[in-house]
Amino acid sequence: MSENEDCIFCKVVRGKLPAYIVYKDDFVTAFHDINPQAPVHVLIVPTRHIADLEAAAQEDPELVGRMSQAATRIAGDLHVAKNGYRLVLNNGAGAGQIVPHVHMHMMAGRKFNWPPG
Ligand code: AMP
Ligand code: ZN
Repeated sequence: MSENEDCIFCKVVRGKLPAYIVYKDDFVTAFHDINPQAPVHVLIVPTRHIADLEAAAQEDPELVGRMSQAATRIAGDLHVAKNGYRLVLNNGAGAGQIVPHVHMHMMAGRKFNWPPG
């Protein structure tokens, strides 16, 4: 499925919902989280609708690599590479995935605790 009409991230990717886009290539789109949990909080999502990692493993096994590569570009653009950034992928409702369009959170600009909450 390339687009899911009910999916908010499909709407963002297609410009049907406003968002501050920071990066786009043929495979992924990245934009600022609407409810940031850090001074820099960007979501990196596949441009086509892929619900979760299980679907990604079937439909685009290289997706997480593409997302990580996008993160390194964004880190350079937003000047957070040197200090470091945290990548989080909540996969499945039990892990805290609310939006069923797979996404990587990229956060930077504050101290991050371990273990995460
Ligand atoms: P998760 O809990 O991993 O599914 O994360 C979903 C994230 O999407 C949350 O951090 C929300 O703040 C964010 N979010 C929801 N709607 C939008 C939107 N329209 N634009 C940007 N971020 C959004
Ligand atoms: Zn979607």
